Amino acid sequence: MDIKKIWENTLALIEGEVTFIAYQTWFLAMTPVSLTDTEFVFEVNDDFVKRTIDKKYLKLIQSAVAQAINRNVNIVTYIKGEKPVENKEEKSLTKEINDRTLRDQNGLTKKYRFDNFIVGESNKLAYKAAVAVSEMPGEAYNPLFLYGGVGLGKTHLMNAIGNEALANTKDLKIAYLSCETFMNQLIESIGKNKTAEFRSKYRELDFLLIDDIQFISEKTQTQEEFFHTFNELWLNNKQIIISSDRPPSEIKHLADRLVSRFQAGLVVDLKLPDFETRTAILQSKAESLNYEVPNEVIQYIAQNIKSNIRELEGVLNRVIFYSKIYSGNITIEMAENAIEDIIKMNKPKITVEYIQEIVAGYYEVTTDDLKSKTKTKKLATARQAAMYLCRKMLDINYKEIGKKFGNKDHSTVISAYNKIERLLDEDEDMKNTLLNLEKKINDQ
Ligand code: ADP
Ligand code: MG
Repeated sequence: MDIKKIWENTLALIEGEVTFIAYQTWFLAMTPVSLTDTEFVFEVNDDFVKRTIDKKYLKLIQSAVAQAINRNVNIVTYIKGEKPVENKEEKSLTKEINDRTLRDQNGLTKKYRFDNFIVGESNKLAYKAAVAVSEMPGEAYNPLFLYGGVGLGKTHLMNAIGNEALANTKDLKIAYLSCETFMNQLIESIGKNKTAEFRSKYRELDFLLIDDIQFISEKTQTQEEFFHTFNELWLNNKQIIISSDRPPSEIKHLADRLVSRFQAGLVVDLKLPDFETRTAILQSKAESLNYEVPNEVIQYIAQNIKSNIRELEGVLNRVIFYSKIYSGNITIEMAENAIEDIIKMNKPKITVEYIQEIVAGYYEVTTDDLKSKTKTKKLATARQAAMYLCRKMLDINYKEIGKKFGNKDHSTVISAYNKIERLLDEDEDMKNTLLNLEKKINDQ
């Protein structure tokens, strides 16, 4: 992630913690310049801003940055034009360390290891398979295909395999990359007439780890290229590990020959962690951050966040962040707030398209029908309900809604809205339908 993005994420955390004026005056006046292993450096316009930030907000910024990047760094500010003289040697050293700790050339992230992967019922099989593969690459299971929902540990396990295999055999040629990166590199190589190099780079590996393979869906040329790379490696007993959010057979538009290649080794899934595992993960995370988090808070978080370990960590980080800025003990109330924030942040935004989809599904019509001019009774009701819900649930006006329904006039939307309002008073069925729809949309 680049530093601008990191700073944006940090700002999002800070925004809710300070007044609007302070946010505008001080935080938006900071320009991120560099981030090393030890420091995050910012440029500001004048002495007043620098002094205020240094005096009042360093701690807040530091905690927020730590939350955003999962490590602690010092915050350094300087006034524009007065850039501190750099100690070049030291800088390149920190950069090197930084690169090494974050991500090696082979793409592996060092912090994802077996020893900080908590094993429970939900991930036991995947974990065992992963360990076996790291001990006997090319022999135990090839390919190893890991699948499961978002934030359940696929990326963590893949990196752990790579890190462990490297620890066992130093000169292993290994590459970890996302399917998207694979595709982008392929496209770039085609553009530069360097496909031969691209091919040999991947076909000479001992170990290939491709994350989130589901992106290959519909990308025919990438599939073709990957198929050949796969075969070459596989025939030479080189280890291939693949992850996906779903099993091979459910990746849409995946060539049959790839599906069967993927199924030829071991396909194993990561399930939702149970309460005990969630608790253990939180405890281990709090320990690694050197933070005393009361058991009741850990359990409260584990009870309330069930479907995603990344969210679990997010809540914990946030709770710690609260306790730092308010310099107080960690309480259940902080956990409550943190959970609310994280859920809000992760919830996909409700859109007109989404409402149309849900309403169309409910009435068994298509979204194109909703945008059409056809006026059968069922369609007219569905369309009016969809328009009503858009107006009620989204912050958009009649005119914009009309546009999204096949360019209808705003007066059409107004009369649809009024009609449904009236029906809600008179018609019990209609009322239930709309309550149902609203719930469905909110529960997305
Ligand atoms: P996925 O790739 O499946 O979306 P990740 O591997 O990125 O999920 O995991 C999300 C976060 O949860 C990571 O920070 C990871 O370290 C953590 N995590 C997932 N599973 C475990 C586990 N069993 N023990 C400890 N941390 C875990
Ligand atoms: Mg992942």
